[in-house]
Amino acid sequence: MTLNPSFPLQATAAVTDLPFEMIRQPIVIMAKEHELLVVEDTATAVTVEVPSFGHYHFTAQEVGIEIRVSAALPDRLHMLKDGLCDHLEDLHPGIADVLRWSDMATVGALPPNVHFTTVQSITPIGTTFLRVQIKTEDLWSFQDDAIHFRLLLPPVDCTDPDWPTISETGSTVWPKGEKALHRPVYTTRQIDHTAGLMEFDIFLHDGGRATNWVQQANPGDRLVIAGPGGGGIPETSQILVYADETALPAAARILESLPKNSRGQAVLLSDTGVNCGYPIKAPAGITVTWLQRDAASSLTDLALTARSECPDHFLWFACEKADVQRLREAIKHDKPAPGQSYIAAYWSQS
Ligand SMILES: Cc1cc2nc3c(=O)[nH]c(=O)nc-3n(C[C@H](O)[C@H](O)[C@H](O)COP(=O)(O)OP(=O)(O)OC[C@H]3O[C@@H](n4cnc5c(N)ncnc54)[C@H](O)[C@@H]3O)c2cc1C
Repeated sequence: MTLNPSFPLQATAAVTDLPFEMIRQPIVIMAKEHELLVVEDTATAVTVEVPSFGHYHFTAQEVGIEIRVSAALPDRLHMLKDGLCDHLEDLHPGIADVLRWSDMATVGALPPNVHFTTVQSITPIGTTFLRVQIKTEDLWSFQDDAIHFRLLLPPVDCTDPDWPTISETGSTVWPKGEKALHRPVYTTRQIDHTAGLMEFDIFLHDGGRATNWVQQANPGDRLVIAGPGGGGIPETSQILVYADETALPAAARILESLPKNSRGQAVLLSDTGVNCGYPIKAPAGITVTWLQRDAASSLTDLALTARSECPDHFLWFACEKADVQRLREAIKHDKPAPGQSYIAAYWSQS
């Protein structure tokens, strides 16, 4: 079987004390739960594709299993290995501890998806966002297929922060205790690969550590980020978009990237509705509606109604966890086809 040639970087590891049959079915089930494509599933091999990122390839050996991970870029290879450690640990506690990769040279190094950047500017966007522009050398992995990343914020009073390293099992070792990093997820709003410039928008809310950071940050400050990761821009021209403030940057990026002939709806929620002033550009065939948080209808109700009217549209839904759970519950017997939805909790009320 030929693996996708666009994933040329590879790392292999052997697991000797577990027969292939023990992991074949659990891996296939787990892949399907995560809506990943099972490219191959035979008595001796399983290959799973993580869209845009790469492949996991498991092969039966005389003794044990060979695991091969392939990807297009070093940071994506690292992220696949890192993710695999977590998944294998869920399947068979302890199994990830014995993984030793063919590219062991990276042990102890800074993970390739961690980037040291310099803040260039901080600008208000509407009434409740600050746009941060950062500069760094290597942003090539930040493409339309992976539009999210994490801020790595040290504790406020920490003057000598620690940064993550790569363990011998290929996983990321995060600083712990008083040096633990706060790692909230954000969305790349705009990117200029040639100039090495990237922008993202922080929604300002009470008690937010990212809010506190950005309100005190200045041009020239260092900001460390990890990414990219998460979802990308859906390839569709029929879409239903539901977003609260935290998802407005992602919704804005998706809406402005859609083909001109796209059709659908976008319902955008903020405390003050359209008066939050967050700029949105969408193709003429997409109806954009702003909703005020205290309105009678909710994002979930509106999404359910629209979905019953337009079942063939891609459903993109991101907001507070309770609304996401309500939507998931309501459609659990009538889920969108794989690859036809993105439903994600972007924050949770504590
Ligand atoms: C894939 C993804 C992409 C995201 N993209 C963006 C983005 O581009 N811009 C953006 O602003 N956010 C975005 N978010 C949401 C952001 O990660 C969360 O809001 C995160 O909690 C913010 O961290 P913090 O440091 O501000 O708050 P924390 O210090 O983690 O939390 C402090 C308190 O604030 C509360 N809180 C968190 N978010 C909110 C909120 N929105 N409104 C009210 N209270 C809140 C928490 O419940 C907690 O009580 C994204 C999330 C995901 C999963």
